[in-house]
Amino acid sequence: MLSLLPILILGLASAMLLPWSRGRLPILMYHKVRPAPGDGLTVPLEVFREQLKQLAEAGYESISFADLAAFHRDGTRLPRRPVLLSFDDAYADFEPHAATAMREHGFHGTLFVPAGCVGKENTWDGGGEPLMDWEDLRTTAERGTELALHSFDHRNYRDMDLDEIREDLERCIAAFDDRSIPYRKVLAYPYGGFPRTEPDRSRMKQLLRELDIEYAARIGYRIERTTPRDRYELRRVGIDAADRGLRFRVKLALGRTRL
Ligand SMILES: [Zn+2]
Repeated sequence: MLSLLPILILGLASAMLLPWSRGRLPILMYHKVRPAPGDGLTVPLEVFREQLKQLAEAGYESISFADLAAFHRDGTRLPRRPVLLSFDDAYADFEPHAATAMREHGFHGTLFVPAGCVGKENTWDGGGEPLMDWEDLRTTAERGTELALHSFDHRNYRDMDLDEIREDLERCIAAFDDRSIPYRKVLAYPYGGFPRTEPDRSRMKQLLRELDIEYAARIGYRIERTTPRDRYELRRVGIDAADRGLRFRVKLALGRTRL
């Protein structure tokens, strides 16, 4: 087993130096933020506030996928140290907790919404927890949250064929368009899943292009670049309740806390 010391030294050095190199874009992935003990998918509100404070002190500024698209389209400048705060599943208490805390610290976020589950519960994860309804989504969008896609009913794209994926995305797009709710055609794959073998992987990306999907995000525990290698495999860094202090700084630098 690797000793902890070199990891700590590398982490510390990276935490101090790496964030200053240009072209880095940490895309952080959250699910639930609430005043509760943390678990795998919950970051306690107090820990989240500490993280926002650390980001602000380190000079990070939030960007949205709209900003990233403008940068790629016509070179619109990004802040010197951009960060993208993303939230999956649209839990009902997003606005009073995560969104409010972000606004207080000068940040904003992107919410990945499973369109067919809006106003219902997180049935794919045991159920019992309410999700935002369409009016909640309209309100948070008006207050500066960017809305984006997270499949229709939270199925894993790895287990679906291309026709099913196409139908799923078309239903998502129609759900937003029919209600005239602003959103970006950016997808977070549920469970980070998508076809991993060829030719399905390339065919899925062709389908995303046909549907004008701008970006798609997986889970990757790496720091993405402002000019990513593959816009349909953006790597996100999962943030959890243990990410405080130095551990959070190391994650911002390396995308992970283990070698
Ligand atoms: Zn999800």
